[in-house]
Amino acid sequence: MADIRPERVLSDLRTLATFGAYKSGVHRPTLSEPDIAAREWFVGRLCEAGLDASIDGIANILGKSRAPGRKVLAGSHLESQNHAGWLDGPLGCVYALEAARAIAEDPAIGHVGVDVAVFCDEEGHFGSFLGSRSFIGLLEESEIDGAVNRATGRSLREALKVPGWSGRPRLVIDPARYAAFFEAHIEQGDVLESLGLRIGVVTAIVAIWQYRLIVEGEQNHAGTTSMARRRDAGLELVRLLGAIDTRFPELCGPRTVWTTGRIDLDPGEKSIIPGTAGALFQLRDADPAVLDRLDGELRALVQRANASGRCHLALERISASTPALMDERLQATLDRAAAARAPGRHTRMPSGAGHDAQWLARKLPAAMMFVPSIGGISHHWSENTNDEDIVLGAQVFTDAIVAVLKG
Ligand SMILES: [Zn+2]
Repeated sequence: MADIRPERVLSDLRTLATFGAYKSGVHRPTLSEPDIAAREWFVGRLCEAGLDASIDGIANILGKSRAPGRKVLAGSHLESQNHAGWLDGPLGCVYALEAARAIAEDPAIGHVGVDVAVFCDEEGHFGSFLGSRSFIGLLEESEIDGAVNRATGRSLREALKVPGWSGRPRLVIDPARYAAFFEAHIEQGDVLESLGLRIGVVTAIVAIWQYRLIVEGEQNHAGTTSMARRRDAGLELVRLLGAIDTRFPELCGPRTVWTTGRIDLDPGEKSIIPGTAGALFQLRDADPAVLDRLDGELRALVQRANASGRCHLALERISASTPALMDERLQATLDRAAAARAPGRHTRMPSGAGHDAQWLARKLPAAMMFVPSIGGISHHWSENTNDEDIVLGAQVFTDAIVAVLKG
């Protein structure tokens, strides 16, 4: 049994929150000045913990254990969304570091170890999961060449030059070295809090199916075109979105979510009936059967609107990922660790957000653990978790890793 040191966990998290501090959260975009400083500080902490730590050519950090025996890989990310919270990402990095320290300090299990990974740009300032995809060998140099910061337009290559990391080789996982990958994260929703629970064991990271809807009507004068003869693309689009919202609850799963993230009207003027309307529509669920069912219904609704309406609707599926399943045996290990430290206060649940673990799951048996988010808030500076929950989570996380390492 490796005991974590609560004050060390909390103080490391609070120190990380000083890099790019913003109100009670942080503003630490990937490879910004505070992000670079946070990475360098974290490497220092890994070295102090006795790990061989380095930063690679895409700003990923790997701290390697010198233990001769079995090893687990654990970690998350350090950068934040713009003007966001202090725990999203850092919590999983510090838990991994604490697991490595607590296990190394326990003479009874000191022959096994934890490697700590920090994946760059999970938050997508430059691209999509660039760090974790690089680490599993699924990132081409050409994608790095083309990656630019969405907000500033600065290229990733330029940004990597500032701290001197460009040109370094990129680290790639050696799957034979590890028994498993573990990532901890704040829940970012309110399931745990609303049920009075303290630990979430992730079953799967949801798939995201993304669609583009285009409605073609007829652009015309808003004053002289009678209601009887107009073909209003905007109205037809809104009708369809309303029909989706009426029909989907009858077919969806318990945690399915759907979002219209964007609506465009063309020409978008106050006295012109829109001739074209477009929307970006998204579905998320961990069950492919549910996604298939809703996809079919979406197509049927579009067909019905086309048959009865005055406009022409086109539906295009832009992308469709598959859910990343977390390893069943590791879920059971996390269940047992949670049951021992917080009996009756844990549950299994899918993750509605994407995480680095979904990529690592392609190479290793992977596990994810959640702690509660106060008010279900994240990606906002007010994001927070109770200290007692942070400490409990660190111990449960470490216990589960110890169980795997003892295998
Ligand atoms: Zn995160």
